Amino acid sequence: MNNQAMVQRDLQVLWHPCSQMKDHDPRGNRVDAMPLIPIKSGQGVWLEDFEGKRYLDAISSWWVNIFGHANPVINQAVKQQLDTLEHVILGGFTHEAALTLAEKLVEITPAGLDKCFYADNGSSAVEVALKMSFHYWRNCGKSQKHKFITLENSYHGETLGALALGNVALYKETYAPLLMNVITVPGPDCYYRERGESWRDYSIRRFAEMEQALALHADSTCAVIVEPLVQCAGNMRMYDPAYLTMLREACNRYGVHLIADEIAVGFGRTGTLFACEQAAISPDFICLSKGLTGGYLPLSAVLTSNTVYQAFYDDYQNLTAFLHSHSYTGNALGCRAALATIGLFQQQDVIGNNRRLAELMSKAVERFQEHPHVAEVRQTGMIVAIELVKNKQTREAYPWQQRRGLKVYRYALEQGVLLRPLGNVIYFMPPYVISEPEISLMVDVCWQGIEQAVRD
Ligand code: PMP
Repeated sequence: MNNQAMVQRDLQVLWHPCSQMKDHDPRGNRVDAMPLIPIKSGQGVWLEDFEGKRYLDAISSWWVNIFGHANPVINQAVKQQLDTLEHVILGGFTHEAALTLAEKLVEITPAGLDKCFYADNGSSAVEVALKMSFHYWRNCGKSQKHKFITLENSYHGETLGALALGNVALYKETYAPLLMNVITVPGPDCYYRERGESWRDYSIRRFAEMEQALALHADSTCAVIVEPLVQCAGNMRMYDPAYLTMLREACNRYGVHLIADEIAVGFGRTGTLFACEQAAISPDFICLSKGLTGGYLPLSAVLTSNTVYQAFYDDYQNLTAFLHSHSYTGNALGCRAALATIGLFQQQDVIGNNRRLAELMSKAVERFQEHPHVAEVRQTGMIVAIELVKNKQTREAYPWQQRRGLKVYRYALEQGVLLRPLGNVIYFMPPYVISEPEISLMVDVCWQGIEQAVRD
């Protein structure tokens, strides 16, 4: 089977996520053409197609893969689990992998998160957190609390509840009539800080808007939900931990929950195991997925406090239980992959090594600062983003219709690097097993791709 045959079969039956399928049509030579790449195997940071061409996975396959493809330790753990128990209903039953993973997650997440509830993908974890928060207040006799506060430019997933909490128009606008109303607060996105203003000062200044929203709506609000430090799907926009510290204090003061969506940033991505650590805070709910299983299997978890748990704990007749479930909740293979992943964090100095890798990436992208079409190069730990603009001085953006990022994407693929820009923002979010020469390759190809994309 060669690449072409695979693509032909695929286009007969498969509808791909987040894609305009017409872009994949190989007929003609359209400007929007986007090749569909069939992958046969993966090893470390590399993916290989059916004709032996290799691609460096610079975006960790949608930010999930942290220790490389076909990682021998995770492979072994999943294989062993497969011979013991592949899956069992988690309602009324338990198993070793789910139980041990819950213990581990309670141990490694910020203090005060003592109970673990599983789901099977990121969006579902967000749904769980929002339902749990609402239901908590209801069980406490505060059913007037039914609103959520969210940040401008945020993203929390694609199911209707999660989509309503997000604020990226591209994904949300079409479905607006289906979505619950939320209170959207101007965010701390530091791209908009004044010249010379620090991330910290800007983030603190922007908190005033959140303070106001809380003062106005606390009585009717269940929770504030945030992506700590980096709004990933919102063009990798970043802000200072000071914002989170202030938010935690204000949520306490106003009696509103804080939900930390660490689905994309958890598990070492921002320089600490969890991004909340940099603000020295514990949220009331933390949502985890993606890196949780090392990028192997769909699994997610919501951790919360004993206080929240106790508000549901009662005689059945009082109907206070959290009756939420998914068929694959706590899947044994997923839990085992997650345990192996956490094991790698505990056996190796992953965070220290990431600091070194982040430094290497930082040096490698220095030259982009001076590029005439780069408005900003920003970085938080193992995430580096490069913002392309039409005009460096005014920061006027390229019209989205020109799809400049797509040009970078196509060029990089030809050169064997998988970048997947978000509009005009090119970013690196590689697995933590990337080497120095691989960082150089990824960055050099990106530079050349940008040079091509900004022509004419
Ligand atoms: N929250 C955040 C911060 C995310 O980045 C994502 C996925 N990109 C989600 C939620 C949704 O996760 P999933 O795609 O697994 O539903």
